[in-house]
Amino acid sequence: MRATLMYGAGDVRVENVPDSVLKHPTDALVRVTASCICGSDLHPYHSMQAADGPVRMGHELIGVVADVGSEVTTLSRGDLVVAPFAISDNTCEFCRENLHTSCSHPEANFWDGMPEEGGQSEAVRVPLADGTLVKLPVAPDSALVPSLLTLADVYGTGYHAAKMGGVTRGSRVTVIGDGAVGLLSVLSAQRLGAEQIVLMGRHRDRTDLGREFGATDVVAERGDEGVERVRELTGGHGSHVVLEAVGHMPAYQQALGVVRPGGVISRVGVPQYEEAPVGFASLFGRNIRLAGGPAPVRAYVEELMPAILDGTIEPGKVFDATTGLDGVPDGYRDMDRRTSLKVLVEP
Ligand SMILES: [Zn+2]
Repeated sequence: MRATLMYGAGDVRVENVPDSVLKHPTDALVRVTASCICGSDLHPYHSMQAADGPVRMGHELIGVVADVGSEVTTLSRGDLVVAPFAISDNTCEFCRENLHTSCSHPEANFWDGMPEEGGQSEAVRVPLADGTLVKLPVAPDSALVPSLLTLADVYGTGYHAAKMGGVTRGSRVTVIGDGAVGLLSVLSAQRLGAEQIVLMGRHRDRTDLGREFGATDVVAERGDEGVERVRELTGGHGSHVVLEAVGHMPAYQQALGVVRPGGVISRVGVPQYEEAPVGFASLFGRNIRLAGGPAPVRAYVEELMPAILDGTIEPGKVFDATTGLDGVPDGYRDMDRRTSLKVLVEP
């Protein structure tokens, strides 16, 4: 079968690899019908050392169950399923607390932690299939597939940002980042009833989609100028809730600049730093809380799916390009150059 491998920074190839096969009785084998490239895939695209590769890529997928192990009870061949970016049993004490990314099962993992499997491929072995996969009540060629695919990561991640930030009816929110997660953080804040949603982003076509998703204000400026502009829009003191959907240090610094005393910074952009200001001048002195982490998107699938199925929302609008597997390397390049927002892959 064919699959996407990253050999090092800037070096993505689609190659023939050994077929994925069932290994454990709790596995399912899934033929991938829709996958995509993630903004977080761009982090290794910038920095991966050749000595650490090649690794299989892709952690968001929808597909058809091709086979199941003998202990899988909730799925059968032919089911269309979505796979969150983390594998979990959906039964352990952390999963029961809706923290599936901390699942304590020995086979729990992130797709990105499994060098021999990946979503940007023709097929994938899914461990803990009963816990990980969620059946979709549509056909593989449904027009709803792009929106349902966002449940695998970007919509669930934006929703997690908003939930961890405590967004509720009447909240005043600033979202940092106009990538897919930032835009779906806007949609999530809107769905949770936020009154003001300031979107910080400088790509006009993206921030226009952000307005469509519910942003009330857009700030294109960055750094001190951007902070100043947000303060002007928020009565001088900043926002109660800041959703940080980038992961680089300047975005964290921007979050510190626009959060109101007593407010919360909720981060879902994978941090590309280990050290950051948390002392008196940054968090402590102003009673600011820091929240967020890898989103347990499995916890949100059932909650978020109905509004997609009935057409109320269309988070799949974040996909602005579609390709087959052969076009995946170009898809990475286009997302890196910001000429594509998010690339849908149909293997
Ligand atoms: Zn678990």
